[in-house]
Amino acid sequence: MNEFPERHNSAQLFEEAKHYFPGGVNSPVRAFKSVFGPPLFIKEGSGCRIKCEDDYEYIDFCASWGPLILGHNDPDVRAAIHTAVDRGTSFGAPTRRGNELGALILQNHRFLEQIRFVSSGTEAVMSAIRLARGFTGKTKIIKFEGCYHGHVDSLLVKAGSGLATFGVSSSAGIPANFIKETIVLPLDDSKAVEEAFANNHDIAAVIIEPIPANNGLLLQSPLFLQKLRELCTNYGSLLIFDEVISGFRVGFEGAAGHYQIKPDILTFGKIIGGGLPVGAFGARREIMQHISPVGNVYQAGTLSANPVAMAAGYATLQKILSLGFYEQLNAKTTDFVGHLNQYVAQKGYALQIEQIGSIFWLNFSRNKITRADQIAQEGMEYFKHLHLFLLRNGVYLGPSGYEVGFVSYAHDQVSLEKAAETIIRGLDYCFTSKI
Ligand SMILES: *Cc1c(COP(=O)(O)O)cnc(C)c1O
Repeated sequence: MNEFPERHNSAQLFEEAKHYFPGGVNSPVRAFKSVFGPPLFIKEGSGCRIKCEDDYEYIDFCASWGPLILGHNDPDVRAAIHTAVDRGTSFGAPTRRGNELGALILQNHRFLEQIRFVSSGTEAVMSAIRLARGFTGKTKIIKFEGCYHGHVDSLLVKAGSGLATFGVSSSAGIPANFIKETIVLPLDDSKAVEEAFANNHDIAAVIIEPIPANNGLLLQSPLFLQKLRELCTNYGSLLIFDEVISGFRVGFEGAAGHYQIKPDILTFGKIIGGGLPVGAFGARREIMQHISPVGNVYQAGTLSANPVAMAAGYATLQKILSLGFYEQLNAKTTDFVGHLNQYVAQKGYALQIEQIGSIFWLNFSRNKITRADQIAQEGMEYFKHLHLFLLRNGVYLGPSGYEVGFVSYAHDQVSLEKAAETIIRGLDYCFTSKI
């Protein structure tokens, strides 16, 4: 504990938390297993800054893993939540607020005709998979190595060894029979997908993070995504874009809008709830009409479309729909990343910062990469030291080198410049001291 005197209170709270929660946390990456020291316990957040229980302040690029595109405690979102709370927190009945958020999304997203709200990204994906199977009458799902879709049983699968296309479970507790319905392929490999379709005649859906951002930022070529669209259409399978991160992040219409590719089903989470627990899946009406109570694909939720969460989502989405929002957010991220990349190139460090919209990732490699197996393992050691340096100097990144960072509307010029200077000093420290 002495090693991290600046985390005295956090360390104490963490020890206590270990009695209550497995590993002291309620979601595994929060435990700081791949970086140094105990996790910071966060007390409050405002704008682009968070404060820990030891009262140190950090410029935050984790943004609660993506939802906080407006930053912490945005005054409009806070006011909307207060107003909603004053009228009660949950009714288990339809509300006007649900209609309002539904309408706002559908009116501004050309690829959606109907939507259903759930309470998390995982729930959205799980329901989308069931819907795809119910709609097509087929069973198998193609997913890609390096894409994360929440902790859905049939998607916690990684590629098997050798030539086997069927994967192995990446978690205990998942029956082998579930895994048999999932085909795991490498990203950016059209041929592998073509072959999988040729060899399997019961593929219900292909699911992909069109902007893979859970295992590094593995930007795909638009041609590959287009190929998925064509193959799904030709074989009568559905294309699912898991836009839990990319949705409303790279533009209101997410990756689908960015690449101008129309998926059959889209899943959402994170930003859609403005920091409260909301997920959603949507599609064209013909597909959504298969969901209960009109259709025979069952799906339900006690707290679905919770009115307080709907209010937070509405306030957030309304604000990001304003003119110039994304241009400004993306431009300041480009400046921030460009500044860092320029320095790194000048020093010749084996690193480049990848970026799309307001998402960035430290790629500890000299090459552009598109697949999970190309991620440089050595980079994770550098990241650990960089992470510690940054925490000691007031910059908070997600506690793993595989995680992306997010710039928000609340990151002002001064904070971004300060963060960039700190990151530069951190990189000098990592690359010049013998780590
Ligand atoms: C975060 C995430 C999920 C899971 O969402 P939860 O709300 O954590 O259940 C699913 N898919 C993608 C692409 C995500 O980034």
